[in-house]
Formats: sequence, structure tokens, C-alpha cells
Amino acid sequence: MSNLEDLYREIILDHYRSPRNRGELESPPAHRVEGFNPLCGDEFVVTFTLVDDVMTDIKLTGHGCSISQASASLMSTVVKGQDIESVRGAIARFKDMMMSHDTALEGSDDPRRLRDLGELAALQGVVKFPVRIKCATLAWNTLSQGLDEAV
Ligand code: ZN
Repeated sequence: MSNLEDLYREIILDHYRSPRNRGELESPPAHRVEGFNPLCGDEFVVTFTLVDDVMTDIKLTGHGCSISQASASLMSTVVKGQDIESVRGAIARFKDMMMSHDTALEGSDDPRRLRDLGELAALQGVVKFPVRIKCATLAWNTLSQGLDEAV
């Protein structure tokens, strides 16, 4: 179990220290939405472009704890280049993961499920710390709101 947790910690730290798709797209034409988690002080500005129902680009700026920043960076790598349906699917899967108090980190995990999640599985440990779940889901909820406004 410790090896997997070490790997997950490494993924989170890597995305925290070197966030992917950092920045802000010019808006308009990009869609722009802001999110804030008052419990922790995490905040984001998410900008993204949609071309023919495909999220052709996404950039995020913001600040906050390592969980919120790493989750946002991971999210950007997952949704960029996907069609809206896939983006909404990824948001739903991630939020499911954050609401399921299973014991995936304790050896009983279904490897296929972890593979589906890819690097996102690194955030699975967050469900053990309910107060951090809002940190992990902030970027996703913000993007979801942005999609609702844009489509
Ligand atoms: Zn936080």
C-alpha cells in the first residue's frame, strides 16, 4: 500500500509544482468562469474554448492548497481536446470517485477502474479527508458551471 501511496503523492506534488495548462485565454472568445472554496481559500479562473462541441483549449489560474491545484492541473490534462459529452462524463466520474468511500488504496482496488482513472486515481485518497473533498472538486465544479453557461 505504501508504494501506491508514494506514487500518488508524487503525482500530486508534480502537478502542484508544475501545473499543466496554466494561464488565461483571451475572453471573449474563450468562456470564462470563476470558482471559490471559502472553507480553504482556494480559487480559480477557468477559461476554455469550444469549437464544434470540442474543448479545444483550457487554461486555469488560481491559488490554494496543493490538493486543489493538483486536481485542477490533472483535470486540464484530462478534458483538453475532448468533446463536451466526454468532458461532462469525466466530471461525473471524478465527482463519483470523491463521493465513494471505498477502500481502493487498501489493496482491494479493481485495477481496471484505476486504469480508467489514470493519474486521477492519485486523488482518490482525498475521500479519507472530507474537508479536502471541496478542494479536490472545486476546479471540476467550476468547469461544470462554465459548461452550463456556455452551452
Ligand atoms: Zn484547499
